[in-house]
Amino acid sequence: MIQVSSIVELRKLLKELRQNGKEVGFVPTMGFLHEGHISLVEAAKVHTDIVVMSIFVNPLQFGPNEDFDRYPRDIERDSELAAAAGVDILFTPTVEEMYPKKMLTNISVSQVTETLCGKSRPGHFDGVATVVTKLFQIVQPDYAFFGQKDAQQVAVVEQIVFDLSIPVTIVPCPIIREQDGLAKSSRNVYLSAEEREQALVLSQSLGYAEQRIKQGELSAATVRQEIIDKISEKPLAEIDYVEVLTYPEMVSTSTLNKGETYLIALAVKFGRTRLIDNTMVTI
Ligand code: AMP
Repeated sequence: MIQVSSIVELRKLLKELRQNGKEVGFVPTMGFLHEGHISLVEAAKVHTDIVVMSIFVNPLQFGPNEDFDRYPRDIERDSELAAAAGVDILFTPTVEEMYPKKMLTNISVSQVTETLCGKSRPGHFDGVATVVTKLFQIVQPDYAFFGQKDAQQVAVVEQIVFDLSIPVTIVPCPIIREQDGLAKSSRNVYLSAEEREQALVLSQSLGYAEQRIKQGELSAATVRQEIIDKISEKPLAEIDYVEVLTYPEMVSTSTLNKGETYLIALAVKFGRTRLIDNTMVTI
């Protein structure tokens, strides 16, 4: 595995590889790698010849009172995990390399960002859209791999690629979970033992909602309220949002219709740690 931090150097490497007919797969991350990230690398290895992973904790996508400074970082460990997973090129730019001057350009996507994390984290998806577009310009991948764990992010990235005619195929990949159901996340390390225990209610309430829908419950409001009730039983859980939306349009709905796909998504805080999870249900 080659590790590079310079945009110029990365472009030079990729130019040579492309001239030799290699297809490039790209896995953008913020590091502190876990099996969720590794699953994206595995998918990339199936689709492409060369796998590029980026590790960049992007300040543009964190709000002023969010966890940019304390976001977990361990480049040495990440580098070992990436190499073992089969990453060919690890791109680890500094903030100065990515943003040497104040950015005067901002990519902003409407509609799909108006709910869920877009609503509760103002500016977050502008930061995501801007960095992903910039990384696409730098890497120019044939394929890019994103986890459904961040379902709204997938919708945002697909919208950018479509609207700006970026020549990349987006490959959404399934959510990887701990054995007990908690979705893997770099932020799970923040959780105390008690919070970790109570956080199980996220995947459990999503599973329960799926089951209720399969049993014939077609009121989105009822499904949503039942999730809220389950989560509210946990004293350390503070709900940010629970939503049942059409997918990929991300519009709220009152009745669930046969043949349609819905996203059930939630964000819940445990102390200072905000966790997200979701499931996609086709009726
Ligand atoms: P992050 O480092 O959290 O920005 O995530 C980088 C990429 O890994 C994004 O496409 C995420 O959706 C994906 N990812 C994070 N956690 C998981 C997970 N548990 N399962 C699948 N993909 C994930």
